[in-house]
Amino acid sequence: MTETESRSRILAMDVKIRRCTLCKLSESRKNAVPGDGKIDRPQLMIVGEAPGRNEDIQGKPFVGAGGKLLGTILELSGLERSQVYITNIVKCRPPNNRRPEGDEVETCTSNYLEKQIELINPKLICALGATAMEYFTGEKVMGEFHGKLMTAKNGRRVFPTYHPASIFRNRSIRALLESDLKRIPKILKEM
Ligand code: URA
Repeated sequence: MTETESRSRILAMDVKIRRCTLCKLSESRKNAVPGDGKIDRPQLMIVGEAPGRNEDIQGKPFVGAGGKLLGTILELSGLERSQVYITNIVKCRPPNNRRPEGDEVETCTSNYLEKQIELINPKLICALGATAMEYFTGEKVMGEFHGKLMTAKNGRRVFPTYHPASIFRNRSIRALLESDLKRIPKILKEM
């Protein structure tokens, strides 16, 4: 597939996501959030959990406080946000920011995320937070697996780390997130 073809398929998928009514999250959302960033063969794709309040309002991923912090840490790590594609496991905000449920994850990833990954074809996926880590690797304990290069169920190389929102609950996590992200440029070079 040419770059132009994959770009137009990704944009068509964005339209489909914005109109999606396949699961109950569509009933309470304001805007679905397909993803944002570099779609022409970025080296890195970042996958979070789900849109929050600000993302639901703006229709873009990681635009709230967690997103600003993510941008800062990415820059400190030598990674520019504009060079990365950013999306989430589910594309619609769960009510009260609860964790997405199994059927929501299954519907959204099988219809959208897996196709985005195929089309965008990143070298590495950074799984931000426990929901994304569990989806890709089956592992649940972030303390044990963050900062480790792993192979996902779908064969993709995945690097799990803490979700930036977890820093607001536990300040000591910032250093771990930062040192994990700082390793990514070297990992990419060696892949
Ligand atoms: N948290 C996420 O996991 N994703 C977003 O887009 C915003 C906050």
